[in-house]
Amino acid sequence: MEYKTKLNVIAMDGPAASGKSTIGYMLAQELGFLFLDTGCMYRATTLAALLQGVDVADETAVTALSRAIHMDIKPPADEGDGRQYTTLLEGRDVTWDLRSPDVDTHVSLVSSYVGVREEMVRRQREFGLRGQVVMVGRDIGTVVLPDAPLKLYITASAEERARRRWVDRQEQGHANSYDAILADVQRRDEFDSNRQHSPLRPADDAIIIDTTDRSALQIMQDIMAMV
Ligand code: C5P
Repeated sequence: MEYKTKLNVIAMDGPAASGKSTIGYMLAQELGFLFLDTGCMYRATTLAALLQGVDVADETAVTALSRAIHMDIKPPADEGDGRQYTTLLEGRDVTWDLRSPDVDTHVSLVSSYVGVREEMVRRQREFGLRGQVVMVGRDIGTVVLPDAPLKLYITASAEERARRRWVDRQEQGHANSYDAILADVQRRDEFDSNRQHSPLRPADDAIIIDTTDRSALQIMQDIMAMV
């Protein structure tokens, strides 16, 4: 392995809307670490393709685009809109555009492309090398930071995850129905778990946490005891 992960990184994985962003963000706040939600990088690549009229089914074109785009993820300033971080795409703030139903629909296909993954993993490891980061995604413990000293796998039932995402989307002003969100969550789980490259799965040494019937605060207390 050509990089060495510092001791101060926490790897967090799990399926869509499992609560990993909420918990990862709280943990990062508590520890004074950067919160890096890697899903936003796959989302930014997807959004760039949609905006530039690149066919998301064209693996070669999307891969080239993923290498060419400039994206940055920063702690929020004081936008006052509840964001956990700011994502810039070509210098433009796209934090909320990344949550559109159109991006939800296409992001799993884009993130199944091996060249796109290699590029995102390369960018993510740069953050890992800087240390003091809670990195959240699908393959952080297995692929991006396999040496991370603490790996957590956050999960919950599909119905509970869909309910949480439905609440989020309502607050963000998107009128998706619960059934449509549940179908999307199940479709993405299926796709992310069965893709050829870096499928969603817990690392062998990950601690599995089921958030279905537990509050974020209870889970945080358990994790802080481990930290
Ligand atoms: O976590 P979020 O729902 O924002 O992730 C969007 C999509 O990005 C996931 O459904 C998955 O296809 C992809 N993803 C990934 N690897 C990661 C993070 C996200 O493949 N580390």
